[in-house]
Amino acid sequence: MMVLDKEDGVPMLSVQPKGKQKGCAGCNRKIKDRYLLKALDKYWHEDCLKCACCDCRLGEVGSTLYTKANLILCRRDYLRLFGTTGNCAACSKLIPAFEMVMRARDNVYHLDCFACQLCNQRFCVGDKFFLKNNMILCQLDYEEGQLTGAFEPQAQ
Ligand SMILES: [Zn+2]
Ligand SMILES: [Zn+2]
Ligand SMILES: [Zn+2]
Ligand SMILES: [Zn+2]
Repeated sequence: MMVLDKEDGVPMLSVQPKGKQKGCAGCNRKIKDRYLLKALDKYWHEDCLKCACCDCRLGEVGSTLYTKANLILCRRDYLRLFGTTGNCAACSKLIPAFEMVMRARDNVYHLDCFACQLCNQRFCVGDKFFLKNNMILCQLDYEEGQLTGAFEPQAQ
């Protein structure tokens, strides 16, 4: 489940205040439009406010931007960077969304946790691994388990 601080999503469309025109924090030019955007306590042209990651325009009316650590992000990138992928199926700790993960069926794993859970062998690209009783297994352990019937008592 994704957990978000509610304060991170901020509505941003403002009407130009009377008096001195504001400078745009993106292009440094004066904002002459009637509407301007406010984010991180700075003002922006509608065209100048972009996601720091994917460059998509954040100025569309009704859209929400997310700020974190001085970054301006769209919702998608915010979730990707600061959301979580889920819990590691091996160590059960939370995996932050920006971390590389290994996936096996519905499970996700830290790269460091993705190893045979019996002999701790790491897998290289192209290596075969098996998921049995929700355990990651190397080919050797999997085949041995099949032979000795070690997996049978626990129904999948
Ligand atoms: Zn601008
Ligand atoms: Zn983005
Ligand atoms: Zn882990
Ligand atoms: Zn093994």
